[in-house]
Amino acid sequence: MIDPRDYGPDNLPFGIVSAASDDRRRPAVAYGDQAIDLDALVGRKLLDAESLRGATTLNDFLADGLGAWRAVRARLQYLLGSSASSDERSGVTACMLARDALTMHLPVVVGDYVDFYSSIEHATNLGRILRPNAEPLLPNYRHVPIGYHGRSATVVPSGTPIRRPHGQRLPPGANAPEFAPSAMLDVELEMGWFAGPGNALGEPIPADAVREHVFGYVLVNDWSARDIQAWEYQPLGPFLAKSFATSISPWIVTLDALEPFRVSEPAREPEPLPYLRANEPWAYDVELEMLLQTPRMRERALAPVSVSRTNFRAMYWTVAQQLAHVTSNGARIRPGDLFGTGTISGTPQGTQGSFIELTARGANPLSLPEGETRGFLEDGDTVILRGRAVRGSARIGLGEVAGTIV
Ligand code: MN
Repeated sequence: MIDPRDYGPDNLPFGIVSAASDDRRRPAVAYGDQAIDLDALVGRKLLDAESLRGATTLNDFLADGLGAWRAVRARLQYLLGSSASSDERSGVTACMLARDALTMHLPVVVGDYVDFYSSIEHATNLGRILRPNAEPLLPNYRHVPIGYHGRSATVVPSGTPIRRPHGQRLPPGANAPEFAPSAMLDVELEMGWFAGPGNALGEPIPADAVREHVFGYVLVNDWSARDIQAWEYQPLGPFLAKSFATSISPWIVTLDALEPFRVSEPAREPEPLPYLRANEPWAYDVELEMLLQTPRMRERALAPVSVSRTNFRAMYWTVAQQLAHVTSNGARIRPGDLFGTGTISGTPQGTQGSFIELTARGANPLSLPEGETRGFLEDGDTVILRGRAVRGSARIGLGEVAGTIV
């Protein structure tokens, strides 16, 4: 259950919803424990946004760009504020849907999907586990934002069951691989951003153009099969170990909503190359949490337990650098392309964004209620990622992304 205060008038995150009464998909913004049906609002001529009329995805709205995004946001804030007329207010009320009764869909048709590797703590933690006798950080890390292209067709909304993948793995001590269900199923706690209008082929986007090109953020769970990954990842990187499912939170929180939570970036040494420098800081103070509920906990009505808490602010590579880097060779990005930040981890125990880090690859299993332990995920386990930015009375919820292993 998401606290209605997470979706106040300063947030207004965008999604695609359907109601039980008629399963027609329509654009909406979350508002408290309600959602405002934007198609209905346009129909009542209370909102002027043609790309939202009859829309079943937000791709056309993302293509409209910053001017349109801001006009819609300003209009909604006006309609929800004290300056609106009583006719306008009753019109908005007529467009409200109870949020709990809605089915949430993918907010966009995801075009390309890229996942970065932008937490230096995560890269260091993983380097220590995977290459125990070598320098944990590879020499390119502090120069180039590392990433890979993932599979957009398996990006799914929160709540979608996650089927344990089969794949090739090399059993310990064996000299030949086997094809079997993954025994090291894991999560990656990430955030992600959706591209706006995009660029023309051959025209890089500068690091300072974030506001024009990034519509907003979601939470991302980049499900990962570590045994499959360990066998397949060299020399070209992740492939089937990650392409079976990537879950996202359903409400996209805009850059303007998160603007009060931008903070200075961590120190970087050496200084990045000029094309990776932005004039403003693009780190965000967003608190993140990972929770786990096992089938036994569910049977005994025990609430999910927190297994990790971390913060988005320490990322080595920011959205500005990811945007500039991914287009620096002239590659195109298009409205609705999704970019994951990479696993968000700290160094202390309990701040890591994956089980492989939290349990040292299963060697130190987590202790759970009722005497249960977990090295990696078992069938029936539910993982929930939550995000929230709070400062004084200002509060912006990212909502949550949940998935259960089947
Ligand atoms: Mn990832």
